[in-house]
Amino acid sequence: MRRENRMRSKAAVKVMTPKGSGHKSIAPLVSEMISRLGEDPEREGLVRTPERVDKAMKFLTSGYSVDVDKLVNGAIFEVQYEEMVIVKDIEFFSMCEHHMLPFYGKAHVGYLARNKVIGLSKIPRIVDVFARRLQIQERLTQQIAHCLLEMLDPLGVGVVLEAQHFCMMMRGVEKQHSGTVTSAMLGEFKQKETRNEFLALVKQKA
Ligand code: ZN
Repeated sequence: MRRENRMRSKAAVKVMTPKGSGHKSIAPLVSEMISRLGEDPEREGLVRTPERVDKAMKFLTSGYSVDVDKLVNGAIFEVQYEEMVIVKDIEFFSMCEHHMLPFYGKAHVGYLARNKVIGLSKIPRIVDVFARRLQIQERLTQQIAHCLLEMLDPLGVGVVLEAQHFCMMMRGVEKQHSGTVTSAMLGEFKQKETRNEFLALVKQKA
C-alpha cells in the first residue's frame, strides 16, 4: 500500500515539472508584472500571488514534461477489431500562446482501429498532455491526432475540438458566445463516408 502511494506521488511530481525550467521560479517576474500594472505587490491580498501564479503556470504547462509512451504504457492491446472507437465530450483546458489566456472546451476523438486499441481512459490523458502547454487550438488538434496515429497505427484518426477563448471573450472583441471549431482528419478519416460517420456519432446525444 505504502509503496504504491509513494510511486503515485513520484509520478505526480514528474508531471508537475516543466522541461528545461530548471525548477526556476517565475514568482519574481510576476511580482514585477504586478507592480508594472500599477498594483502594490506587497499588499495583503497580493503578497503570495507570485508564488501561486508560479505554481499554477507550472501546472498549466506541465504537458511539456510528460512522456506519452510512459503515460500509455501497458494500455495498448492487440485485438481483432477494425471498427471505429470514439471518445467524445472530453473536457480540456489550455492556454492560448498569443495572450497566455485560457481557452477551454470539448474534444471528440475517434480512430479506426487496425487490430490495436488503447485503454479508453488514456485518451483524455493524451488530450491533457497537449492541452497543458502554450497552444493554438489548431496545433492542439493536430498533435492529439498525430499522437494517436503514431501509437496505434490505426486506419485513420479524427479529432474535433470545440473551444471558447478568453482572449476573445474578455477583451474588446465582445464575441462572448462565439466558439471555435477545429478538426484534424488523418488516414481513412479523409474519406467522406468515414468522416461523416464520425461527425454524426460526435453530434449524437448520449
Ligand atoms: Zn489568444
